[in-house]
Amino acid sequence: MFNRKAPFPRGSVMSVAGSDSGGGAGIQADLKTVTLLGSYGSSVLTALTAQNTRGVSNIHGVPAEFVAEQLTAVLSDIPVDVIKTGMLFSSQIIDAVASAIESNRNCLLVLDPVMLAKGGAALIDREAVTFLKLRLLPLAYLITPNIPEAERLSGIDIIDEDGMQQAARAIHRMGSRNVLIKGGHLGDNNSVDILFDGSAFIRYPAQRIHSKNTHGTGCTFASAIATFLAQGEPLQIAVAKAKQFITEAIKTAQPIGKGHGPVNHYI
Ligand code: PLP
Repeated sequence: MFNRKAPFPRGSVMSVAGSDSGGGAGIQADLKTVTLLGSYGSSVLTALTAQNTRGVSNIHGVPAEFVAEQLTAVLSDIPVDVIKTGMLFSSQIIDAVASAIESNRNCLLVLDPVMLAKGGAALIDREAVTFLKLRLLPLAYLITPNIPEAERLSGIDIIDEDGMQQAARAIHRMGSRNVLIKGGHLGDNNSVDILFDGSAFIRYPAQRIHSKNTHGTGCTFASAIATFLAQGEPLQIAVAKAKQFITEAIKTAQPIGKGHGPVNHYI
């Protein structure tokens, strides 16, 4: 009767992120990805955005104490393999998330350092980026910056794969165990992502897909990696499978709404 991919979820991912009322990015993208790939998803909300495919019209932050209460409620009851973070909004919220991770060392942290929405709205306070580098980045198993985020974190201008490698080394030195820099913003016909584990670089090449329906790409990609990790895949395989998933999700995206439609999670 129901077309379920798997009868029982395998692995558990907790997403700590903002809500996108349009359903394309943020916590909504994360839960769709985790669920449709067959794991259990829980969610801790950091902010509400009033948003559709044309942009963010307003943001309402969740008080850090209430973020901490959500973290405690989930982590004291539900087994979590991977904590995936997206929009974190403020230094106070980053501190609450870091404290929860310090008390739950068995969970892997996949940190998507979300900074800007496509339309330019800031999804994190300016000064909170510095705090994120100092407080949360050293706790990460994997960080997944795009090019502008990697430039902001590393202070390095990236114009090619060499620059991506330099930035990956710099961000690895800040304490993340693994660094995945996504090359989609380099603007040529390929979209090469680079994974650095502190000793070797692995390239994940893909042909660029020209589409305006790319809303939620970063959230979906990081959530897919988190899900495959929660299911026990080694990092290199988790990234390869997630890259395949996001490529297909962009290729098959439908034009929902009048602006940038969401990627297709229903693959
Ligand atoms: N998180 C929230 C709540 C957002 O609204 C957005 C973008 O608008 C993002 C994350 C980042 O989206 P993307 O996956 O397109 O980078």
